[in-house]
Order: sequence, then structure tokens, then C-alpha cells
Amino acid sequence: MKLSLPPEVSGFMEKMAAAGFAVYVVGGSVRDFLSGKENHDWDFTTDATPEQIMAVFPESFYDNAFGTVGVKMADGEIFEITTFRKEGKYSDRRHPDEVSWGKTVEEDLARRDFTVNAMAMDLKDHLIDPFGGQTDLRNKVIKAVGNPEDRFSEDALRMIRAVRLATQLCFTIDEATFLSIKENASLITKISGERVRDEMTKILSAKYPADGVKLLYNAGLLDYLLPELARGVGMKQPGHHIHDVFTHSLEALRFCKSSSWLVRLATLIHDIGKPATYKEFNGKPTFYNHEVVGAAIAKTIAARWHLSKDDREKLYILVRWHMFTVSELLTDAAIRRFIKRVGKENVADMLDLRIADRLGSGSRETSWRLEQFKDRIIEVQKHIPSVTDLKVNGNDVMQTLGIGPGPKVGKILNKLFEEITENPEKNERDYLLKRAEQLG
Ligand code: ATP
Ligand code: MG
Repeated sequence: MKLSLPPEVSGFMEKMAAAGFAVYVVGGSVRDFLSGKENHDWDFTTDATPEQIMAVFPESFYDNAFGTVGVKMADGEIFEITTFRKEGKYSDRRHPDEVSWGKTVEEDLARRDFTVNAMAMDLKDHLIDPFGGQTDLRNKVIKAVGNPEDRFSEDALRMIRAVRLATQLCFTIDEATFLSIKENASLITKISGERVRDEMTKILSAKYPADGVKLLYNAGLLDYLLPELARGVGMKQPGHHIHDVFTHSLEALRFCKSSSWLVRLATLIHDIGKPATYKEFNGKPTFYNHEVVGAAIAKTIAARWHLSKDDREKLYILVRWHMFTVSELLTDAAIRRFIKRVGKENVADMLDLRIADRLGSGSRETSWRLEQFKDRIIEVQKHIPSVTDLKVNGNDVMQTLGIGPGPKVGKILNKLFEEITENPEKNERDYLLKRAEQLG
């Protein structure tokens, strides 16, 4: 079957060609195109300089220091087109010290990370594939372009990219490439938290995120990216647990049914406080207060990866309160307290985490207690009490205390309301009048 480029893509390329320039679809777009995936992210490369590209597309904008120009298409989609590059020296393992324009598309392909990402396609659907990308795509292999050693010391982010692409595409990593990652893993500490986060969120969003995290571990990267999690490897757990702490964390992630990368991250690190709180008691491991310590660790991870304020808070909450009890003996007030602590908007995610936690330790998905707890959460939320539910009102308070209207009346009513929120059974007229007297 012969695939051909969609009309808006070839139309775009024809405009560049008509102006006398060489132009190719390149990188991940070619990879996805050849795999028959729907592609929403078209990247191009050309021998035209950014100024020359902008002359062909006057409504375009210059994107960054690497010669990428963004062109807005009729449907609002942005096509990115970058001048052929060849790269100079790297010092911080991420940014080229000098970007010099390349002369040929082959030169541009040679500076790309993996063979499946180092193919280009011209207007006639002719493939330029100097590194055997097509074969590796067929064999589902992520393989560094050229010498992996050099490529990873030029830019250490490529090591996580290898794992990320293997995870997203369900590919394996070529042996020499993998060995080189293992040898160079410590270089990953040179990469900024934001870039690590962007790759980690992609790994966590993939269809099999637990396999991705396991691959990070096998590649030696997890020791640097999430050392607190790697500490759980081989750490025994008592009682109903069938796995060590690390395996349990991975299994919980595997079973997490949320599609949110953040909830998945919380699930992965929910027990991250265990290694730090490990203590043997009567010959048995204990992890007293691990959720408190774990929540503090979650905060440092969130800071390391520069998560947004909302994401940081949510991660903290999900780890901090994951040990909630679901006993049938809980009062409505206790359930209301749980909802308040966790936040109404996080309750469903908190339950997803708990279910993943259960499945990840070899338990059944749910229990009658958990089901009852879920029902009661819904029940309790149907009726959130308000001050008007109080069995006494302002007039009652004024009469009892023999005072006139004023701020004191409101204060006492609020205090009474707080008390009945905690203990709804105390919402009795006689009792409340007595309390008003005491408070007055
Ligand atoms: P996706 O967009 O699906 O996440 P992608 O392969 O398009 O995957 P991008 O980050 O968009 O990934 O990068 C586009 C292309 O740029 C890659 O296919 C690759 O050719 C090249 N590239 C990206 N990052 C690097 C890097 N760190 N080193 C070398 N080449 C890179
Ligand atoms: Mg892309």
C-alpha cells in the first residue's frame, strides 16, 4: 500500500518548492506517518533560512533560537518548519553551543536522536533514510543514530526520550543503545526538572505506564530521577502484601484506572514514605506515619519537576490521605471530614488510587466496606448542612441570652453550626439552647 501525504501537507510543501527551496517532512511525523498513525503534529525541514521561510509565509512567526518558524494553517493548526541544522559542541548536555545551518537534509538527519526519528520525506513521497530507520520501525526498535555514547553525552535527555518512545510505541531499546544508557545514566542529573517532567508525563500518560517506569529502573535512570522510589526495591512488607515496596508501587500504577498522569504519579509514589519510615517491630516491618513522610517527599518531587501549584497540591493530598479508613463504623461527620480534607474534586481520584493500591497488593478490586463507603460519600454530599438547618435561630439565641440583635448572635449561631456539623445528632432544640446559654 502506498501512503501519500495529506493535501494540506503537500500544499504547504509545494509553496516552499515553488519558491525554490528544498523541503521535507521530518522526524516524528515521518515515523508516525509510516506507521499509519493519524498525525496531528507535522514537522518540516528546509534549506531556506528563517528569513526566507518568513518571506514565503508572511503570516508566520519565528519560534526560537534553533531556526524554527511556525506557520499557522487555515484550520488553526501550526506547522513547524526548521532550517537544516548541524550541531556544534554541547556543554550543558542539552543546548547546542552554536547552531549552524546545515547544507543537506542528511546532515540534519545525522543530528537527530533515534533512527526511527531520523527519516525525511519529500513531496514525491520519496524517503530519505540514511540510518536504517525503516527497518528499526518495522522491528520496533529504538536505536541511537551513530555512536550512542556520543549521542547521550551530547544530550542526556535523549536517554529518557529513548524510554519514553519505547513506552509510547511499545518498542524495545536496541542493546548497544540500552547498555550505553546504563553506563551514562548519571548524566541525567544535568537535565532541568522541566524537561524531565515533560518526558515523565508522557511516560505516565502512555498505555502501559508501569512498563515505562520499570524500563527507567532497568536502564538505571530511576535511581537518579526518583531515588526515593528506587529505595523500595527488595523492601519486604508484612501481612497481606505479596510484593516488596517497589513492586507494589509498580503494580498499583499498572492497575490505576485513571487516565490522568498526575493521579497515576500519585499512585506510583503513594508509598514513597515507606523506605524512610521502615522499622522492625517484633520482627515485623512497620512503616508508621509513612503517608505523612511520603507526602513531604511528594512535595520535593513536585518542586524538582516544577509542577504547577494545583498539581503540587493535588499530588500532596493524594499521598497524604491515601490511608483513609473505610470502616462501617465511621460517623457521617467523619465522612464529611474526609471529603473536606481531600477536597470534593479529588474524591474520585482518591478512590481510584485506593482501588489501585488494593489490586497492586494482590487484593480484590473492592470490598463491601469500600462499596458502602462510596455510597455513603454520595449520600453525605447530597445533604451538606447549612446554618438554616439548625434547630434554633437568631431569635431563640437573643431570647435565651436576653440580648438584642448584633454580631454576637451570628457568632453563637456559627459556633453551634460547627458543632452540629461534627455531630449531627446534637441538632436538638433543647440541647442547642443550653449550649447557647453556655456560649453567651
Ligand atoms: P512526539 O511529538 O510524538 O512526542 P517526536 O519524535 O515528534 O514525538 P519531538 O520532541 O516533537 O518528538 O521532536 C521532534 C523530532 O526532533 C524528533 O523526532 C527527533 O528527530 C528530533 N529531536 C527531538 N529531541 C531531540 C534531541 N534531544 N536530540 C536529537 N534529536 C531530537
Ligand atoms: Mg513531535
